[in-house]
Amino acid sequence: MSDSHVSDRTVPGACLCGTVKFEVTLPSKLCVHCHCSMCRRNHGAAFVTWFGVAKANFRVTSGEADLTRHQSSETGNRFFCSRCGTSLFCELARDPDTIDVTLASMLGPIDLAPQAHVYFDTHVDWVRTFDDLPKMNFP
Ligand SMILES: [Zn+2]
Ligand SMILES: [Zn+2]
Repeated sequence: MSDSHVSDRTVPGACLCGTVKFEVTLPSKLCVHCHCSMCRRNHGAAFVTWFGVAKANFRVTSGEADLTRHQSSETGNRFFCSRCGTSLFCELARDPDTIDVTLASMLGPIDLAPQAHVYFDTHVDWVRTFDDLPKMNFP
């Protein structure tokens, strides 16, 4: 089999302690740097890079019992490893067929580079961005 079909590669990911392991089968739907205040506080970071995949292309392969859900808003659920605290996934009610995954949790490259900065109106002023990506705000 040729591995030239990058678009249907399966890429593994894991939390910091390795308890929660998962895999996604590409293609991904989007990839963005999120500057919203919830991502910032949840990760303890200036912004968080997410990519979205169809839930049908996403599987938790181990540690599902240690995956804890936190409802972070009326319409959003975040999932983290209850052993090491790594924030891994986010589900949004407006897009129930997609799961967002933290790019930094992947153990290999995906098919998309970040496409935009989102919720940029709430970005911190102690990190500067030097790329030419669009900066988008959401209501
Ligand atoms: Zn962990
Ligand atoms: Zn966010």
